[in-house]
Amino acid sequence: MIPTIPTPDELLNKGFSRGKKAADLLRDQKIPKHLKGKRIEERRVITSCQVIKDKLKSILDAVPEIEELHPFYQDYIDITVGVDDMKQSLGALNWAYGILTQLEKEYGGKIRKNPSEKATMLQKQAYGRIASVVNKIKKDLDFLDFAKANLRNMPTIDFDATTIVIAGFPNVGKSTLLRQITGADPQVANYPFTTKGIQIGHTERHWKSIQIIDTPGLLDRPVLEMNDIEMNAIVALEHLADAILFIFDGSETCGFRLDNQYNLLKQIEKIFSEIPIVYLFNKMDLVEDKEYLNQYIDNVDNTIFISAIEGEGIEKINKKIDSISKIERNIDDEDEYY
Ligand code: GDP
Repeated sequence: MIPTIPTPDELLNKGFSRGKKAADLLRDQKIPKHLKGKRIEERRVITSCQVIKDKLKSILDAVPEIEELHPFYQDYIDITVGVDDMKQSLGALNWAYGILTQLEKEYGGKIRKNPSEKATMLQKQAYGRIASVVNKIKKDLDFLDFAKANLRNMPTIDFDATTIVIAGFPNVGKSTLLRQITGADPQVANYPFTTKGIQIGHTERHWKSIQIIDTPGLLDRPVLEMNDIEMNAIVALEHLADAILFIFDGSETCGFRLDNQYNLLKQIEKIFSEIPIVYLFNKMDLVEDKEYLNQYIDNVDNTIFISAIEGEGIEKINKKIDSISKIERNIDDEDEYY
């Protein structure tokens, strides 16, 4: 998304050395004596400006318009590096581009109009001003370099797919379930405030793409303990999720008691109030007293008992996902799925 970003010195060295090379090509050419010095210095200034401008333009062209990105990516960039800082830096590169265009014209003209003896002095003056412009955008180039490093390995989201986000405490079986439903190894990408990165598994049901997202370190701990930026990292997921799979560990072998798990669910329900939630009780192979779980069930129709490790109940989840992707496509929902 962001190409390699040069330092001001790298930009200037490249511009000036290419300017010199281009100017040197004129030295052996037959040009009237009184014009030759002027031509050489003019070429030098113009080429230097153009080389630096080309590099700036290639950066500006490679970075997509932030406003045109999907809201998820806008949020992602905002949480990770800050959208305003990003826009400001790109604006500064644009500004430098404009000033270099002016200098190119101004000094090209001055060198042409003035006597030959002044050409070298004018070229030096132009170089001074070019250097000053490029040095003025140092902090912006630094910022873009920082942004490049931080926006590496962003999650690749399929915005046409039905997207399911998994939540639940650590060790309840989220990644086991993700693999059960999607088969192959999930894509692992960077995501702010996740310890192991975000995991995205893909599958297909009835020709419809499904992607399932697990966010270790984010939707697996009490939301009330989070700061504003961490909350934003969660809210970004709201742009994606068609449904949430909330996983309880019915056996409590994850180390969290069911009433704590239930509290986490209530917090997640509050944040994702617009998004349907499917309640999964996992590790049923270890649960002896199933009656005990009833007190944590608010919505029987949307509750499924599973054993992710044994693949038990996965088909019921798949059918639930079918019904969710059907709602999305405005096809009448059918009772048989409940
Ligand atoms: P996550 O931290 O929520 O992603 O949890 P994991 O998928 O890593 O699972 C945590 C542990 O629980 C692992 O040792 C899994 O093998 C185990 N586990 C997951 N699902 C089940 C299940 O249905 N039954 C049993 N007995 N163990 C499970």
